[in-house]
Amino acid sequence: MSYSPYISVVVPVHNEQEVLEELYTRLTQSLDKLDKPYEIILTNDGSTDKSSEMLQALHERRPDQIRVIEFNGNFGQHMAIMAGFEHVRGQIVITMDADLQNPPEEIGKLVAAMEQGHDVVNTYRQDRQDSLWRLKVSKWHNQIREWMIPKLKMKDEGCMLRAYSRYIVDLMVSTGESSTFIPALALMYAANPTEVGVAHAERSAGTSSYNFYKLIRYNFDLITGFSVFPLQVFTMIGVLISMCSFAFVVFLFLRRLIVGPEVQGVFTLFAIMFFLIGIVLFGLGVVGEYVGRIYEEVRKRPRFVIRRVLEKPEVQVLNNTGT
Ligand code: UDP
Ligand code: MG
Repeated sequence: MSYSPYISVVVPVHNEQEVLEELYTRLTQSLDKLDKPYEIILTNDGSTDKSSEMLQALHERRPDQIRVIEFNGNFGQHMAIMAGFEHVRGQIVITMDADLQNPPEEIGKLVAAMEQGHDVVNTYRQDRQDSLWRLKVSKWHNQIREWMIPKLKMKDEGCMLRAYSRYIVDLMVSTGESSTFIPALALMYAANPTEVGVAHAERSAGTSSYNFYKLIRYNFDLITGFSVFPLQVFTMIGVLISMCSFAFVVFLFLRRLIVGPEVQGVFTLFAIMFFLIGIVLFGLGVVGEYVGRIYEEVRKRPRFVIRRVLEKPEVQVLNNTGT
């Protein structure tokens, strides 16, 4: 008998031993209520706690429905989701975080929106429960992102509880990108996306895997992956500075002719020089962000390495030889 799921839920897991049991209970309860065949794909992204053993136990509890992908190391949340995408068997694919900040009880809402014919269902967090600095950073970031990448129409890019049609998921997998941002990538291909509000809770246990540095890296992935705006900004600054410098040279030349040789203003010139050097270094850094990513892509190293997959084969042929 083959088990073909209709809904696939993909969850990245990185050091989540404290929440896995609750995740299992609440997720399976919410999905059982929908009364549609489903599967849950949990990708263990190089956890160093007991997550690996716990995931294996979850698979053993419900081998038909729970599949586990084990990475060989830590490849990041988006790669963990991508690996899940490579393995999905359902038609509606839901992504969510393991830490229960996105309540699994909201999945029904997403499935209903998909069934109305949308190919991507984005979400925004209502009454967000995060630390104040995270809220602020997120708000600024959403504003900057909207300004830099206006084609990405989403209120809240940080909420990972989202639904995608299988067609969109297959397209995302086919890109083979190694630094990507899944909600943005999906929007590139969506023909009929929509957005729904979902509840948000505090992390139920454990700690966030993101520190300030990781958050910055993560945001650079989004900006550089979907826009060349930062590079264009430097072209514009370059043009502006060149024009100003030209005017300044003409001004100095005329002064030289009119006033004669003079040494005042050396420190002002130094200040201007340091300012310009700062801009150049910053611009170089921005170019470096793009070059680094191009380098990653051209090396063609595998974007993640799977150590093992715990799952039942897709089609199980029953022993029908009569013996
Ligand atoms: N995660 C992951 N790999 C990482 C970091 C995080 O798979 O390197 C997972 C993590 O287990 C969780 C989700 O990505 O399911 C979101 O991570 P987290 O809750 O730490 O981030 P935050 O909610 O603080 O942004
Ligand atoms: Mg979280």
